[in-house]
Amino acid sequence: MPPLPPLNYDSPQALRAFLDGRGLGMRKRFGQNFLINPDARRQLLDALDVPPGERVWEIGSGLGAMTSPLLERGAAVTAFEIDRGFIPALGEFFGGNPAFTLVEGDVLKTWRTAPPGDYLFGNLPYTIGAGLLADFIDNNRFFKRMVVTVQKEVARRMAAKPCSKDYSSFSVLCASAYTVTPLRVLKGASFYPEPRVDSQGVRLDLRTDRDPGGYPLFFKPLLRCLFASRRKTVKNNLESFAASLAGAAVNRGELSGICAAALKDAGIASGERAERLGVDDFAALAGALEPALGQAGCSAGGGAHEGC
Ligand code: SAM
Repeated sequence: MPPLPPLNYDSPQALRAFLDGRGLGMRKRFGQNFLINPDARRQLLDALDVPPGERVWEIGSGLGAMTSPLLERGAAVTAFEIDRGFIPALGEFFGGNPAFTLVEGDVLKTWRTAPPGDYLFGNLPYTIGAGLLADFIDNNRFFKRMVVTVQKEVARRMAAKPCSKDYSSFSVLCASAYTVTPLRVLKGASFYPEPRVDSQGVRLDLRTDRDPGGYPLFFKPLLRCLFASRRKTVKNNLESFAASLAGAAVNRGELSGICAAALKDAGIASGERAERLGVDDFAALAGALEPALGQAGCSAGGGAHEGC
């Protein structure tokens, strides 16, 4: 086993001294808050429960507080890190370990060409947390299990159920692919430097009952459109959505008929609102819409969001 990094990840003083010794600073814009709470680190890794030899993507490795125990637990780690100042330290600490791969740069740009990974771990920078997770699901990039820490409000949105105030298109997107389990709340004092907001761990287990055929064509754009004006009825939002796809190609009367028929097929009352619908309702509606809109020459591409 390679030597452990010569760094006490529990100690703000040790981290500060290490950074100072290398002339490095902490950058707020990269959401840099090191997790200095050893119990929290252990609990998050226990929640990930990655079997030895499995491949893990670690987002935002920082100075390696989570990379080190992931490797110790026998995982093969692909570490994503944007801060050029941290890259040499990660190389020094873990570069001699054949189970370690470093991907430099912005993960939003680099993940598409990175080595494979079946599990994901990340104490995610606040700046990109929700956007990154949505990007993965939008692009059908799924993991067997993910454990992430995000801002507490984002965690609430991820785990929210229909009819609750935190329920959003992001909640449905997460629920469409994963069983979402909130983990412990982490107060600012668990991090260095101490952020002003609370964080929360979230575990996401890939649903085994997902449709093997993938998402209905209009599922994701429809979802965003129906929540964009959440006070409006599903029927009104659906008609705007269909019109934005169809443009001038189909007249309003015809579109209204298509939407009414799709709502009926999906078993959704026309006066219903998006915040009361579950993931299966959205899937049923997108599925019901597909043949009729497809026949009318609409695709799920460009313009899908503008009309909403
Ligand atoms: N993993 C360390 C820990 O738990 O102590 C650091 C976590 S810190 C909250 C977030 C890390 O993500 C920082 O190291 C930061 O430089 C990195 N980061 C921020 N934005 C990034 C991006 N777009 N792509 C890759 N890494 C990023």
